[in-house]
Amino acid sequence: MNTWNIGPVTVTRIEEQLGFAGLPPEKYFIGFEREVLERHIGWLAPNHYSHEHDRLITSVHSWLIRTARHTILLDCCGGNHKERSWLPRFHMLDTPFLERLRAAGAAPEEVDMVLCTHLHEDHVGWNTQLKDGRWVPTFPNAKYLFSKKENDYWDPRQNPLTSEHPVRSIVYQDSVLPVIESGQALMLEGSHAIDDHMLVEPAPGHTPGHVILKLAGGGKRALFSGDVMHHVLQVYAPHWNSSFCEMPDEARVTRRRVLEHCAEHGALLFPVHFGAPFVAAISASTRGFAARFVEAD
Ligand SMILES: [Zn+2]
Repeated sequence: MNTWNIGPVTVTRIEEQLGFAGLPPEKYFIGFEREVLERHIGWLAPNHYSHEHDRLITSVHSWLIRTARHTILLDCCGGNHKERSWLPRFHMLDTPFLERLRAAGAAPEEVDMVLCTHLHEDHVGWNTQLKDGRWVPTFPNAKYLFSKKENDYWDPRQNPLTSEHPVRSIVYQDSVLPVIESGQALMLEGSHAIDDHMLVEPAPGHTPGHVILKLAGGGKRALFSGDVMHHVLQVYAPHWNSSFCEMPDEARVTRRRVLEHCAEHGALLFPVHFGAPFVAAISASTRGFAARFVEAD
């Protein structure tokens, strides 16, 4: 139901949440143009937009990637019991995310690698869980891959921008720092290969150290885009940034580059926030990019 095959590699969606975006479209996107939404309205409802509420539908999920050698979790959603009073959608959650992971065939002990595309609160939550009043790594046998540039940006000891904003540093303190202190973090600089199938690459813009993951196997390709895009409408309007993009110009350049890569190489796009069925093939023409959703195998 939830698994796509990329040659010998399987990719399974592990859901945390599926529902309304926290903001109306005009606020969710910088530069939102309602005519683009109207042009695609025929197919956007009900999986990607609610007419009745005038809200975009967005998902929050992880990708479980299994190769012959590795069990990898890409992005870690919001997590349970985290103080996020400034973001109601992620505040003090209590979801059965780990049960869903187990049901997909992966116990937390079996995950040997975690990759966070960036360190926003909806991508690092399950890095840790609350045990006896302390935040400890959820995946005891995993190496956690972080971009060094991204880590330096969010570490309040290194960046005054973060230390001066408690809301920014609280996420780092409960979801990133415990992983570093446990010795499980691996800081990546530049590109990084994972076995024969995968390559982590810098994709700055949404955040300074954002990375993407490219996957190739058995003649098939995939690209895990993190928050390079938040909604399928950005395939049609790649100049729209989300209101959470920290570097607007770089975010637009990276988004186009990712879409061009997918179109040119036939790489399936695996975003973290698109609505059902979550995965899309991308094509390019003189009129721009287009998305065709691809159901699970
Ligand atoms: Zn996100």
